[in-house]
Amino acid sequence: MQVEIDSKSGFCFGVVYAIEKAEQELTENATLYCLGDIVHNSVEVKRLQDKGLITIDHEQFKELKNCKVLIRAHGEPPETYKIALQNNITLIDASCPVVLKLQNNIRNGYQEVTKINGQLVIYGKKGHAEVNGLVGQTGNNVTVVENEDDLDKLDYAKPITIYSQTTKSIEGYKKIQSIIKERMQAALGIDDIPFSTNDTICRQVSHRYPAIKEFAAKHDLVLFVSGRKSSNGKVLFKSCTDSNSNSKFITDIDDIKLEWFSSQIKSVGVCGATSTPRWLMEKIAKFIEKI
Ligand code: SF4
Repeated sequence: MQVEIDSKSGFCFGVVYAIEKAEQELTENATLYCLGDIVHNSVEVKRLQDKGLITIDHEQFKELKNCKVLIRAHGEPPETYKIALQNNITLIDASCPVVLKLQNNIRNGYQEVTKINGQLVIYGKKGHAEVNGLVGQTGNNVTVVENEDDLDKLDYAKPITIYSQTTKSIEGYKKIQSIIKERMQAALGIDDIPFSTNDTICRQVSHRYPAIKEFAAKHDLVLFVSGRKSSNGKVLFKSCTDSNSNSKFITDIDDIKLEWFSSQIKSVGVCGATSTPRWLMEKIAKFIEKI
């Protein structure tokens, strides 16, 4: 049986940067707090916890004083920086540069659209850490659109500026934009509508969808390794199943079932999300090779 690890799967540069920062700090200090899971992969979180990383939530963060806290790749709203200043917390800011740029663009976009009495829209998952960080740039004066139903909340007679969470699908974003455009044209009765669209989807994720489909199609069995909380993990797994119905979602070796490996299975592909560590995919590949 031949086993192949997808060379394009694994951490994106934003996650690599955050983990490097954490490990670097932990070589100098016994403990380091991290605001939220550093990565949506419990196996990797556990590895870093064993080195001294302590995951905290926002309520626990408010209670801390005189310590160091790591901000993960998803970024944080301005409120977090304010609390850190008040409580003498040193922030180790590992916000992904792509997310920081988007936060900056949203701040500017909000100022511009407010001048013309318009609305700012973010296409993303409500309550997702990155989205919370983006919403915070506008003082919470933004409509988060998760699906078509949420579009009923907008006033189509007013200007609209839209941005997307970095990990949403390009197709989904295009669809939302085209519905808004149609509704604005109908409401305003003109073609040249005051609708500003911004392509803010991270290509580290979107480029993986076609690549993982191609990879999955090459194998008799596909093991997709990811944490269950990972948004891009869910979407990338769907790409695998679209291309190869014999794709299995696993978080670690314990999820592997021996009955998957019948005599017809000659090749197995191991792949994963942007939050899946390579060492975990390698561990799984080695385990399969022994079956
Ligand atoms: S997916 Fe893109 S935006 Fe998100 S952390 Fe990775 S590199 Fe940054």
